[in-house]
Formats: sequence, structure tokens, C-alpha cells
Amino acid sequence: ELEDGVVSTRHMVHNTEGKVVAEWGMRRWLEGQPSAIPKRSNIHIARQSLRFQMMEQLGGTEEVHWGHQLVSFDQTRSDKVQLTFLVNGEQKYAEADLVVGADGIRSVVRQSIIGDEVTPLRSLNCMVVLGICPLSLLGDLESELLDGATVFQTANGNDRIYMMPFNAESVMWQLSFRMDDDEAKALSEQGSDALKAEAIRRLPWHSPIPEILAATPAELVSGYPVYDRELLTPEHFANSSKATLIGDGAHPMTPFKGQGANQAILDALSLAREITNGCWSEDVWRNKGLREAVLNTYETEMLERSAVKVEGSAAAAEFLHSDVVLEPIDQPRRMSPKD
Ligand SMILES: Cc1cc2nc3c(=O)[nH]c(=O)nc-3n(C[C@H](O)[C@H](O)[C@H](O)COP(=O)(O)OP(=O)(O)OC[C@H]3O[C@@H](n4cnc5c(N)ncnc54)[C@H](O)[C@@H]3O)c2cc1C
Repeated sequence: ELEDGVVSTRHMVHNTEGKVVAEWGMRRWLEGQPSAIPKRSNIHIARQSLRFQMMEQLGGTEEVHWGHQLVSFDQTRSDKVQLTFLVNGEQKYAEADLVVGADGIRSVVRQSIIGDEVTPLRSLNCMVVLGICPLSLLGDLESELLDGATVFQTANGNDRIYMMPFNAESVMWQLSFRMDDDEAKALSEQGSDALKAEAIRRLPWHSPIPEILAATPAELVSGYPVYDRELLTPEHFANSSKATLIGDGAHPMTPFKGQGANQAILDALSLAREITNGCWSEDVWRNKGLREAVLNTYETEMLERSAVKVEGSAAAAEFLHSDVVLEPIDQPRRMSPKD
């Protein structure tokens, strides 16, 4: 169970006039059979809330060395990896048996293991603008879409907005549209007031969208061009004896399937399992080496599992900004059943 998690029970797709084009979710599926509550469901949870709860499992925030920027590392000089960090402007050194790069889409660890030029950032020519709106700022606006358990999206074949409960007190929206990468970078650099104005300009659509956009505090609006990278294969890691990747460092993907953080967490679980299996005796893994004892199996599983999500997320960047999004089919928007 997750504190502050919200379970949505209804998902709706509208056209810009607010006509319902498709609907699915627990509320629909359970009509007439209220006892059939599914055991598994999606949970919406604010990033910082999830992060805090994971940190508690670690034993508290003091278990993490904050403010350390990894600058470089060397896994060839000895049987330990030598790491160099920048801490408050000063270089600091550390040693480790294994480096796990969880350092995101612009990963320094990936740069060192694989090289940025091998799989550079790949633009999807798409822009995402995000906002969080406290329900208290909506005055006496009434909408059944704001019942705290409904996710809805509205689209016109180019622009698309997706709204979901952020927590019990706020909604989060994600506007996305096709935009050339240079233009998207320029818009992003203009800052939150310009991003909010762009969202309002693009979406004079059905209620409660304009009201929510107008009420969203500009400081809670942000926006980014969308990127991913070409898929990695196990061979990309072959020369890395004591370093690997998890999360966006390994498989950055567009946000349109909501899978990036989910895959990152599954990566961590998978790697932890392989370490438990492969390192039961220090003699064994020191003799075999971590690559053979742990990393090959982990990376093969991680790359295969996440590849489907990377490809599905890239396809979603296309079809969610096309007429496909408005197809009157009562199920999640996807390209193939595997997505
Ligand atoms: C708009 C948007 C919506 C999304 N929605 C969803 C969703 O609904 N569901 C979902 O599952 N995913 C979603 N994602 C994807 C998700 O945010 C990412 O996949 C996830 O955050 C990846 O986690 P990560 O730990 O690999 O990388 P990050 O979250 O990027 O974390 C990397 C960390 O490494 C640190 N770092 C970077 N470089 C260094 C360095 N040199 N030294 C030390 N530290 C460093 C950074 O400061 C950061 O803290 C969304 C993404 C976006 C952009």
C-alpha cells in the first residue's frame, strides 16, 4: 500500500466539445457485478511522495549522500571502481564494487559505458506542458470529471490534454502536441508564464479544461521537448565489467504510456534479485566477476522487458497526436495488444 496514492476507477476520452468518445476502467467493467473488485489496479502518486516512501524503506534520508555529482569513474584500474564526484565545487573520491547508473536520460554512467554518440538523444518532435492545479483554486466549479477518481483526456488530433488526480487535493494535467524540436526548446526556455499562456491559447475546449488551466499557478507549470534513445542491446554493456544502468539511463522513453518510472522500479527489483542470486558467496562472484555472476542476466531481462515499453511509448507520441486517439473504442489508446 502507498500513502497518498489515488486509485482511478474511470477513464474517459472526449472530443473538444466534451462529447464522450470512449470510456473504460473499473467503474465500467464492474457495472452490475460490484463484488468483482480486481486485486490489482493502477495507483496515481505524486513523485515526491513515492520518493519519500522509498527513502523510508532505505532507512531514512541520511542513508543517501546528497549533493554528489558524479563526474567520471574508472572500472579498469583495480578490482574496485574509482569514482570522482563534485561536492560543493570540490572533487571527492570513492570506491565501489559495482556502479549502478540511475542518473536519468542524460546519464554520465551511460556516457562512460556506451558513449553518447552511439545512441544520442532522439527527438520525437513533440512538446509536453505540465501543470498542477489545487482544487481549492477552482471556486465553486462543479464537474463530475473532478470526482478524485476519474482520468480524462481530450484531443483534436494534434493537441491532447490528459488530466488525472494528483492527490486528494489537486489535479495534474499534461498537455502535449507535435512541435519541431528547435521550436519546443525555445518555448521551454521562455518559462512557466509563457507555457501557461500557450496551454490556454491552444485549449479553449470543454469545461473544466479552460477553468483548470486558468486557475493553475504559473509556478506549477513546466514544459519540455520529448526525447528517447535507440534501444540498447546486451553487447553495448559487454566491456563494462563493474557498471550497469537502470531506469532512464538505460531506456529513456516518452511519457505517453506512463511507464518510465514503473520500468525503473522493476529494473531495481530485477537487479537486486540477480545480486542476491549471484553474490551469495564472495569467492564465487569475485572469481567469476560481476558481469558473469550478475550483470549479463540482469541486463538481458531488463532490456527485453523495457524495449516493448520504449517502442510503445514512441508509437504513442505519434498516435495520441493523430485522429487515432479519438477512435470510439472503450479501451486504453494503444497501437497493439503488446503495448
Ligand atoms: C512529463 C512526464 C510524465 C511522466 N509520467 C510518468 C508516469 O505517469 N509514470 C511513469 O512510470 N513514468 C512517468 N514518467 C517517466 C519518469 O519520470 C522517468 O522514467 C523516471 O523519473 C526515471 O527515473 P530515473 O531514476 O531513471 O531517472 P530520473 O528520475 O531522471 O533521476 C535521475 C537522478 O539522477 C540525478 N543525476 C543526474 N546526473 C547525475 C550525476 N552526474 N551525478 C549524480 N546524480 C545525477 C538527477 O539529479 C536525478 O535525481 C514521466 C516523465 C515525464 C517527463
